[in-house]
Amino acid sequence: MTIRVGIVGVAGRMGAQLVKAVAAAPGLELTAAVDWRGSAAIGSDAGTLAGLPACGVPVRDDLPAVLPAVDVVIDFSRADAVAATVAACAAGKVALMIGTTGLDAATLAAVDGASRRIPVLVAANTSLALNVLLDLVQRAASALPAGYDIEIFEAHHRHKVDAPSGTALALGDAAAAGRGESLPRPVSLTGARAGARSDGGIGFSVMRGGDVVGEHDVRFLGAGEQLRLTHVATDRAVFAHGAVAAAGWLVGRPPGRYRMADFLFQEQ
Ligand code: NAD
Repeated sequence: MTIRVGIVGVAGRMGAQLVKAVAAAPGLELTAAVDWRGSAAIGSDAGTLAGLPACGVPVRDDLPAVLPAVDVVIDFSRADAVAATVAACAAGKVALMIGTTGLDAATLAAVDGASRRIPVLVAANTSLALNVLLDLVQRAASALPAGYDIEIFEAHHRHKVDAPSGTALALGDAAAAGRGESLPRPVSLTGARAGARSDGGIGFSVMRGGDVVGEHDVRFLGAGEQLRLTHVATDRAVFAHGAVAAAGWLVGRPPGRYRMADFLFQEQ
């Protein structure tokens, strides 16, 4: 049976990637496309907007109205738009995959509430390989003695404003979890700190420049050896492909709050 997909934020950079990823995914079909009501894209064909042949799905500004034609919604829009998506999907009993980042506490609480009615997956990074890296980092941190220093390096394009990246912080959380700890916030940047390093700390290093899509490098530094685990994204399409694969998996799951790791590791 074909899984019917709706995309919120369809006129954005990730929206275009998602339309292409759905078109390329066997068994999935785009049946609804939504963007902000002030968007110039309202009324355009979602396929054409993404640079594909027309697909007969116009961009709409009213998610509840299109939900009856949808099995799963994928939201890559804006943090302040997500609460409305969550409410609509919970009311319409439609599965929800959220890739939008920067969700505030109220929106996350709304996600928890909705997860009693529908399956919801929230992932600030939907790359499949990056999510495997999170698992590897947690395992390595749990296996290696706590005296190993952990350094998380990330590089992104010159336009990125936040640092360290949300993904670097997630890697730090995974490393801390492996040690049975939690990562304190705010984190400090290693290069900005003077003096000797304390034993076994989790540090962060950041580089900005050019058009780097995203690089994350986690090093476990011991006396006489280093373990390096690295992920390099070269194309934003990887985030869309991961999100679309996870969204397809989410359909038919029991209500609950899911992570990419549930999708990646429970099926094996
Ligand atoms: P973008 O600004 O290009 O696109 C956002 C789209 O959302 C725009 O078309 C905008 O009009 C639309 N939008 C805004 N308010 C809306 C509303 N109320 N209802 C419906 N649509 C609305 O941004 P982008 O680069 O495509 O990124 C979108 C989000 O995805 C960001 O939060 C970004 O951080 C996140 N992101 C996540 C991943 C991941 O792996 N999970 C990867 C890349 C980007």
